[in-house]
Amino acid sequence: MDYIVFDLEWNQPEGVSEEQKKILPFEIIEIGAVKLNSERNLVSKYNRLIKPQFYDRINRRIVKMLALKPGELDRGMNFEDAAGDFLRWCGKDVRFCTWGNQDLMELQRNMAYYGMEALSDRPLKYIDVQKQYSRLRSKGGQISLENAVTAENIIRDVPFHRAYSDAYYTSKILKIIPEDILESVYSYDLYHLPEEARGLKLDDKAGNIWYSPAYETKEDILNTPGIMTIRCPLCTKALKRRIGWFGNPGKVMHAAAVCPEHGHVGVGLKIKNGEQGGVYAEIHSSVITKEEFASLKEKHRKSTAAAGRSES
Ligand SMILES: [Zn+2]
Repeated sequence: MDYIVFDLEWNQPEGVSEEQKKILPFEIIEIGAVKLNSERNLVSKYNRLIKPQFYDRINRRIVKMLALKPGELDRGMNFEDAAGDFLRWCGKDVRFCTWGNQDLMELQRNMAYYGMEALSDRPLKYIDVQKQYSRLRSKGGQISLENAVTAENIIRDVPFHRAYSDAYYTSKILKIIPEDILESVYSYDLYHLPEEARGLKLDDKAGNIWYSPAYETKEDILNTPGIMTIRCPLCTKALKRRIGWFGNPGKVMHAAAVCPEHGHVGVGLKIKNGEQGGVYAEIHSSVITKEEFASLKEKHRKSTAAAGRSES
């Protein structure tokens, strides 16, 4: 398996209509990538400029950041040719890697706009190098690529803020990620949500995360027993609720149960907007301590008491 470390530059001009933003919020104007083999050694480089077809002007901030020369983008390929060419260059057995969580989403969104065949019909597993690097150095929050490069004393032999250079530096950071993080801290791009009724389970060191399929409304989710059932993160057994769901479905809801084998289990559920419309649930479940269980119980009591007051 090869690692495809890629970075995109995209454009959204100032003052475009909400209607346009809905159709294609960001138009890709450059693809840069580096291919690493399974030993994470560089085997190939990729770089293409793309001639915009959707927006007719470039945001001034982007012109400045990318140091674009006049007429430079006009010499680019059109998106369909460039994306097709890029995917052929990638090959079949690959793992996509990006700095942050937006590039794979925007690539898929642009491909869908041009009616290209989808990369996948379900969530796509990938490596968010920024997330892995943050786990490695255990700094909270998001570190910029430039700061990571400085912190790791990586030689700055290409200028920043072009697609190729950012992919190149991201690949340098990827090389220092230890095997255990590389294998355990992965991400899913949710441009395509799971279709399975029980959703997709993602193992993560922080506990277990499930993603549901897309539904039309919040109520559809709250009325789907398969989603609202509490499952043990370790044995996935369906558990009887000990603390019923409470909280705000627009923000976060909680519930808890006890697994006969693994002890107290707490779950959090968030309803989010799908990238292609509709809503989906993100459910975290983890084994919690007795004290955490007691504190959830207290929050549940207060929340139901407050609801009782507002009803009367
Ligand atoms: Zn269990």
